[in-house]
Amino acid sequence: MKDALAGRVVEVLENCLAGRKRPVVLHEPRFTGNEWQYVKECIDTGWVSSAGRFVDQFEVKLAELTGVKQAVAVVNGTAALHICLMLAGVLPGDEVLVPTLTFVATANAVSYCSALPHFVDSDQDTLGVTPAKLNDYLEEISSSDGSECINRYTGQPIRALVVTHTFGHPADLDALADVCSRHSIALIEDAAEALGSLYKERHVGNWGVLSAISFNGNKIVTAGGGGAVLTNNVQLGNLAKHLTTTAKTAHRWAFSHDAIGYNYRLPNLNAALVLAQLEYLEELVERKRELADRYRQAFAGMDGLRFFKEPEFARSNYWLNALVLDESRMDELNHVLEATNAAGFHTRPSWKLMHRLPMFTACPHMDLSVSESLSERIVNLPSSAFL
Ligand SMILES: *Cc1c(COP(=O)(O)O)cnc(C)c1O
Repeated sequence: MKDALAGRVVEVLENCLAGRKRPVVLHEPRFTGNEWQYVKECIDTGWVSSAGRFVDQFEVKLAELTGVKQAVAVVNGTAALHICLMLAGVLPGDEVLVPTLTFVATANAVSYCSALPHFVDSDQDTLGVTPAKLNDYLEEISSSDGSECINRYTGQPIRALVVTHTFGHPADLDALADVCSRHSIALIEDAAEALGSLYKERHVGNWGVLSAISFNGNKIVTAGGGGAVLTNNVQLGNLAKHLTTTAKTAHRWAFSHDAIGYNYRLPNLNAALVLAQLEYLEELVERKRELADRYRQAFAGMDGLRFFKEPEFARSNYWLNALVLDESRMDELNHVLEATNAAGFHTRPSWKLMHRLPMFTACPHMDLSVSESLSERIVNLPSSAFL
């Protein structure tokens, strides 16, 4: 009985991924454009490091693709989140609302600001923060004077909300922006996984005062390692550029700095690699959506689980495809993971929830029952664009 579900999942994967070389890993890049030419140009010209034309071109191209006024290239997505939080005004001692269902970098970045993550719940249908539940919670625990939201139990300001677009699926941004403005909280998007995803036909990253993208090796496009800060506020965009480049003041030769800055620059070599992929991002999104469609059809009607489908308001990049087991099948999660991995399909569970990690167990949190249930039921499937 228990192995029946696992066996059926293996069978479907064998059909969907017939002929693919095993093991079929969770996500891997493949380079089919101008990557060699651009990277070679860096080496031939000597412009391999922190300045060069590819960094500038990458920023322009990324802003164009996402529709934001400014994109600032940085060394990774975690650094991008750190800068987003700083520039959104997060101060030491502040609380920042973060989903417990996210990658650890979202919460770590809050700690880098000497602020405290305050964990919130996510939704079954979006895997993103639940707006109504968050609003009810804030009404209960906080008071706002129209400029600041104060946690009535701790006395600390709740400065920002970071929403993660989980597995590339957009959270309900309009509703979340509404909750934030009602409570005087800054909205930041952790769009690390969501390059190419649209919310109501507009690219994610346009709702947060600042947003973060990642170009790590496992994301839809990769710089090897890399990230970017997106914003529609040019003043904040310029500050982001300044702070991530050691806050150096412009001068032909003098080394002077006007703030404690960071060396968060993206090297030209990495920008060259990722720029080449941005040129065919739309094709990658199309291919990933086709794979998702194949999975969706193949798993349709299988009882005991559902294939996670993009929310109605979204056109998702389907960065990672996911199955969600029924609550009654929770205890079969490990069987499914074991059987699929044994068959050469690298499936993975979702992240261990943030409020259960040792460094965050003492952080404040709301009722997290939906996330707690989801985390025992999610199975990510191999999702590379060329599958
Ligand atoms: C990948 C990822 C990050 C961090 O990006 P890095 O480039 O690896 O630092 C942050 N948040 C989420 C949700 C991610 O998936």
